[in-house]
Amino acid sequence: MAYSYEAPVSQSLFDRASVVTPGGVNSPVRAFRAVGGTPRFMVSGTGPYLTDADGREYVDLVCSWGPMILGHSHPEVIAAVQEAVSRGTSFGTPGEGEVALAEEIVARIEPVEQVRLVSSGTEATMSAIRLARGFTGRAKVVKFAGCYHGHVDALLAAAGSGVATFGLPDTPGVTGATAGDTVVLPYNDLDAVRAAFAAHPGEIACVITEASPGNMGVVPPADGFNAGLKELCAANGALYISDEVMTGFRTSKAGWYGVDGVRPDLMTFGKVMGGGFPAAAFGGRGDVMAHLAPAGPVYQAGTLSGNPVATAAGLAQLRLLDDAAYAKIDAVSAELRSLVGEALAKEGVAHTVSAASNMFSVFFTDQPVRNYEDAKKQDVFRFTAFFHSMLEQGVYLPPSAFESWFVSTAHDERAVERVAAALPAAARSAAEATA
Ligand code: PLP
Repeated sequence: MAYSYEAPVSQSLFDRASVVTPGGVNSPVRAFRAVGGTPRFMVSGTGPYLTDADGREYVDLVCSWGPMILGHSHPEVIAAVQEAVSRGTSFGTPGEGEVALAEEIVARIEPVEQVRLVSSGTEATMSAIRLARGFTGRAKVVKFAGCYHGHVDALLAAAGSGVATFGLPDTPGVTGATAGDTVVLPYNDLDAVRAAFAAHPGEIACVITEASPGNMGVVPPADGFNAGLKELCAANGALYISDEVMTGFRTSKAGWYGVDGVRPDLMTFGKVMGGGFPAAAFGGRGDVMAHLAPAGPVYQAGTLSGNPVATAAGLAQLRLLDDAAYAKIDAVSAELRSLVGEALAKEGVAHTVSAASNMFSVFFTDQPVRNYEDAKKQDVFRFTAFFHSMLEQGVYLPPSAFESWFVSTAHDERAVERVAAALPAAARSAAEATA
């Protein structure tokens, strides 16, 4: 595909980066491999806008993959960070900021009786699984195809077909032995979960699921799916782990738990709770968390866990996220969803705008999408054309058809109008695209 616009400074930075960093990026999806073209190197962000190294401004519908829920450079978050930095950047001791952040999380999310802070969502899910295995004395972990829980070895297994298939490693470097304790099932299929428990009696430590998946595009749980998981786990002595790294503090004040009220045994958090800094957490039932070192025998640690600057940023952000903030984000999301849907319908492009609270994505198919297999059936080439037209017109979408779009409290009428103005041409590009 040829692109009618250029980004020479980004391209030269990418060329430099590609010499010293594998693929030129520090996280694969940033490289634009799924859509082609030059990844934009951003130099600054303000409110709903990002500015790249070539001086172009974009309406940002990625929001750093979720964390920037108040927009970029929110003055109160920046002030909290500056105040924290002025007192030092890391002490390797306990500090009041981490206590305050833990208290904020426990106050917001009722099933979380205790919480441990870590530095990334990957660390949170890795530690939650270790704790579940330590607590239950069992080895196997059930996950769902299309759910992403970070690059934890055991969770990079997503292959396999049929019910209760043993996971095959998705990437070289993950051994068969590691993936062999992972059972990968189709999402939204309680019968498959039932069959897995029947096939492995007394062996399954936990079921981990995205509270509402956003990593195969947005595919919300069917009515009763999360409640069914919880019930099956309880009946079989396994823990139900709800991964709220993406949905936590985004889909409501209490994340997806605030939406469906299904009470997990353990939960994981990241993104929004770090205010744009590396802070994440896992927490849940007090009796389970009590197994964690130094209170209990399951080891878990981190040099920068509870870092004072990261916790100050996260706390400042969470304290600004009141009911009015969520109402605003929900309203902007609803407006954008209907604008995108109208533009695509007008050009006759088969599509489904799929939403879970204020998270949403567009599948280029008119067939129902209930799991990863369904999501993969969309016309990805139409997304690619749509993406590049939006980028050219100054709207930054996730560079993949299998990612959620994110908005913030900073997405005001002006930003929405800029998206609206770009949509007709992008929809036309999608309609005209060929496989
Ligand atoms: N869990 C979910 C649901 C995620 O969306 C992600 C990241 O996108 C992770 C875990 C991993 O988080 P991190 O990238 O901070 O390691």
